[in-house]
Amino acid sequence: MEKLIKNRVEEEQPQWMKIFKRVIGKNQLTHAYLFEGQDIDSAYDFSLWVAQGIYCQEVLEGSCGECSICRRIETSDFPDVTTIIPEGQTIKVDQIRDIKQTFIRSGMESRTKVLIVKNAEKMTTSAANSLLKFIEEPDGMMYIFFLTNNINKILPTIQSRCQHIFLKPVSKQVIASTLEEDSSLSKKQTELIAELVDSKQKAVELSSDEWFNSARETVSKWFQYLEKKNALAFVFVQQYLVKMAKEKEQQFLILDLLLSFYRLKLKEEIASEQFSQRDSNEAIEKILFARRKLEANVSFQNVCEQLVWQLLF
Ligand SMILES: [Zn+2]
Repeated sequence: MEKLIKNRVEEEQPQWMKIFKRVIGKNQLTHAYLFEGQDIDSAYDFSLWVAQGIYCQEVLEGSCGECSICRRIETSDFPDVTTIIPEGQTIKVDQIRDIKQTFIRSGMESRTKVLIVKNAEKMTTSAANSLLKFIEEPDGMMYIFFLTNNINKILPTIQSRCQHIFLKPVSKQVIASTLEEDSSLSKKQTELIAELVDSKQKAVELSSDEWFNSARETVSKWFQYLEKKNALAFVFVQQYLVKMAKEKEQQFLILDLLLSFYRLKLKEEIASEQFSQRDSNEAIEKILFARRKLEANVSFQNVCEQLVWQLLF
């Protein structure tokens, strides 16, 4: 059974949950928040949980998560809580107008409204300006939560009117276990992907990408050669890696995959208190150095071959 929003927020944002419980309990919520976090779904969960806290009558601080109001907010079946998401690449001014109309018409449940703007960085300037009026003259009780993973693209006029909350990155463990529930990947594979990304969405995207999955298997073999100090690791570069990674982005991903294999190895060593940690640490530094060379436009083949020499000898 899928976890309730309340449980996910407890797991992903425990500190902010504690702070907001107090704020909600004292009725001290601000009317406009900017929730910034790399994992936009996690930020969305958090904003819905705050919305539950505004309406839930069962508990004073935060939400019960289980009453009919909490349930309806969770399943987007509560007209006073509305979410705007981008239509195509942007959030358009027409969408904002529609929402205003809906708010004027509905208002059945209560006078308090919550508007959540997901991927707020995708608002067009006119959409943002239209929303600014909401913020400046809150009509009745109006709360707006802007969610973003790219604060630099949020208009300064919006930023200055909101309280900025920097959400915690979702832990590797949570990313891996989400992926494990969603896919047929093994625990090891999900842990590897979690090392590479900073959000659940990116993890799910990567795990269903065909190129990535074959790259993951190829780099896994490369890693095994390197671990065994087998000189085949050198030939492997030209034979497989260069052919497979034609685009710069793919080349970085190959190095990042190798990096993740070593990071996982290091984690295991630390957990089991083994003392080969130095090797793994050194390997990680060498890969990071190789990555910088690739950034400086050294050819991918040269970067990888030099890296193999350094890791083998
Ligand atoms: Zn409730």
